[in-house]
Amino acid sequence: MARHAQASDRKLAVFPAFHKIEGRRVVVVGGGDEAAAKVRLLAETLADIVVIAPQAEDVLRDAVARAGGTILAEAFAPAHLDGAALVFAASGEEAEDTAVVAAARALGIPANAVDRPEICDFYVGALVNRAPVAVAITSTGVGPVLARHIRARIEAMLPRETGDLARLAESFRDTVVRVISSGVERRRFWARFFSGPVAAHLQSGRPDAARGEAQRLLNTRNEEAGFVWLVGAGPGAEDLLTLRAQRLLQEADVIVHDALVPEAVVAMGRRDAERISVGKRKGRHSVSQAEINEILVREASHGRRVVRLKAGDPLVFGRAGEEIAALRAAGIAHDVVPGVTAALAAAASTRIPLTLRGVASDLVFATGHDRDGETLPGWGALALQGATVAVYMGRTVAVRVAARLLEAGLSPTIPVAVVENAAQRNERFFAGTLADLPALEDRHEIDGPTLIIIGEAVGHADLANSQPLRVVPAERAVVAA
Ligand code: SAH
Repeated sequence: MARHAQASDRKLAVFPAFHKIEGRRVVVVGGGDEAAAKVRLLAETLADIVVIAPQAEDVLRDAVARAGGTILAEAFAPAHLDGAALVFAASGEEAEDTAVVAAARALGIPANAVDRPEICDFYVGALVNRAPVAVAITSTGVGPVLARHIRARIEAMLPRETGDLARLAESFRDTVVRVISSGVERRRFWARFFSGPVAAHLQSGRPDAARGEAQRLLNTRNEEAGFVWLVGAGPGAEDLLTLRAQRLLQEADVIVHDALVPEAVVAMGRRDAERISVGKRKGRHSVSQAEINEILVREASHGRRVVRLKAGDPLVFGRAGEEIAALRAAGIAHDVVPGVTAALAAAASTRIPLTLRGVASDLVFATGHDRDGETLPGWGALALQGATVAVYMGRTVAVRVAARLLEAGLSPTIPVAVVENAAQRNERFFAGTLADLPALEDRHEIDGPTLIIIGEAVGHADLANSQPLRVVPAERAVVAA
């Protein structure tokens, strides 16, 4: 018995509209929490807020003071509604609220009664305020929690600066109408205005650059300016992307990504975005850094919005420095969006307090692949002084790393944790000591990205689910099983 939606199920019982309220009087009747909540909502607007409350509670007084409204300590009388644009009955008393609504109706003023949908003339949506842009969500009273949930997602999606962008657009509107006569071309101009470098500059707190870019866009309409974002994709879990990264993935024309960035993250990009993999994978030609730089410059020079998606954080062992230098040399606007670097993800998974009072007060991000591989890495000295050391790209050089640290005088009993595929579904942990670390180099079954953490602080980790770093000899394993 399939239930088919009735045609009427798809129609709304309400009509969404935005009420002009600037400088107009909005009356809230009530003295407690409900009234305070309405005042806080109205405080998002330019309404002239008047509260009728013979006895106002502190929360309400506080809300009204913040909103810059007035409280009349009087019993409600219909005369209070004279000239009001909207009325909220929020007394918490059924009889009082009903009387307020009746009085409003008699004067032709729309009324809302808190928690009494049956007598409301209008509902109040969950609001996302990016003035002058506003989004209001309603479930027509059916699921207020759902509406709030949707609101939270929209809040996250819309940059704070959306309103500034709208205002900047407003300041260009007359000029655009004058300079661009074709409607199609105007639309194209606005599309670029709202999603390209203009918006990017505003979101990075550079209003002057945004205005300059908008002017440039207007002057040189045929040659679009591209933009490159170096975006940290985090350690591989989709929900460890930043909201900004997620939004930019939705806006990019081109996504240039490494092999280390999981497909699921790349897939979060706009469906019709071009994807260019520049990953180094076994048995495949890997794209050189110079070629990657060229790709970025080329795509942006064609006016495309490029997201260069890098594992973890772009500025940690990500060769972002070289890409930024190339973009700078080519005069291409760019920004960096930070991401959760592998060390932080690995520490979170294993609950390693990377810094710990009295145990570790320094944290080192190091690489096993330093250029002059034979010298003692500079961080050896820091490790000796008790720093926690996170070693990137260390698995295939574990023997050398361990040898150098032992030579430097670090104790063989210093705890070591190894996290493979941190923050991903196939994450694995290995625990041991510095003396065990060389064993890692021979464990070819550990072939995902691997982070090594060395230091006394590792001793405070939660490694209950870990395997030993040094494999148990086969005989003993059999006995144990
Ligand atoms: N920019 C990246 C690091 C790139 S270098 C970041 O900030 O995380 C590549 C090295 O990072 C790998 O060899 C490995 O040591 C480490 N790595 C990256 N992702 C990892 C993950 N999910 N788990 C463990 N280590 C990871």
